Amino acid sequence: MKSTFRPRLLNGHTGDPALLLSLRWQGRALLVDLGRIDRTPAPLLLPIEAVFVSHTHMDHFMGFDQLLRLLLARDATLRLYGPTGLADCVEGKLKGYTWNLTDEYAFTIDVTDIDEREMTEWRFAARRRFERELLRPPRPFTGVVLADGVFTVEAAPLDHRIVSMAYAVTERTHLNVRADALAASGLPPGRWLNTLKDAVRSGALDDTPIDVGAGDRRPLATLRDELLVVTPGQKIAYVVDTLFSPANVARVTRLARGADVFFCEAPFLEEDLEQATRRYHLTAAQAGALARAAAVRRLQVFHFSPRYEGRYGEIIAEAQAEFAGRDVRYGELERGRASLP
Ligand SMILES: [Zn+2]
Ligand SMILES: [Zn+2]
Repeated sequence: MKSTFRPRLLNGHTGDPALLLSLRWQGRALLVDLGRIDRTPAPLLLPIEAVFVSHTHMDHFMGFDQLLRLLLARDATLRLYGPTGLADCVEGKLKGYTWNLTDEYAFTIDVTDIDEREMTEWRFAARRRFERELLRPPRPFTGVVLADGVFTVEAAPLDHRIVSMAYAVTERTHLNVRADALAASGLPPGRWLNTLKDAVRSGALDDTPIDVGAGDRRPLATLRDELLVVTPGQKIAYVVDTLFSPANVARVTRLARGADVFFCEAPFLEEDLEQATRRYHLTAAQAGALARAAAVRRLQVFHFSPRYEGRYGEIIAEAQAEFAGRDVRYGELERGRASLP
């Protein structure tokens, strides 16, 4: 089965970070980072329901005004997630405009501030002139910021001299019943099939009994292997603006582990390692090393510095060579014991 997500970098490899994740067949979309989006056609942006912001340096957040302009008259809630301080930045932006004619508008912005230990939700409603309200008091942050019926979003705070949040969006496992196998089994279709799917998704043990009707109970593994086609959901990981430190390496490899596509910044070539480190950014080789350590399937580097104009191919080649292990500059990176240069 095809993946639900269709990812695209709205400004390519070199422009401001903004990764659109459209959900096929559903008319829904997520956005990771909110750099400029004014050149993106409105029909692509209108389905956005949640935005995951890495940090509020200007190149990652200046698209906020454009998204607000587009959604303001809609009966919708836009959810924003990001490091603690995001609600302050949203509030500051909203205070830059006059809101005396929006009392009838239903549009609402809900902002979740995430820090190392807890998440706090704030609300800004157009009908209340976007005055800030506490929506939900702090609750523990366990790594998952949003769990939806279709996907889960995890976050990991990284060090960029401020927090830069990394994200992983994972589609839930697809479970399809094999109609022919069900007919052959002689079991009647019914709600027990949903019970079986829920049990498989939640990772229940193989010998968990499933009631198939009329008091007949069968082990989960038997039913799963006979009746279900299990297709793992796609995983997309996203890392920008971060230092190649042991702690960051450990967090990235844990978060991005096994991702189908790993979007990773590579603003600098390894020849400018010193400058990359001073600015708390990655080099292309470091992006490749992270991708290899996390055993991702595909690495897509972006957020290139314009200083390399005309040499962008070198950035991609350097990252891919390190990822593939053809030109290894960074050794095995494991559990925080990064081999740093
Ligand atoms: Zn930054
Ligand atoms: Zn940046």
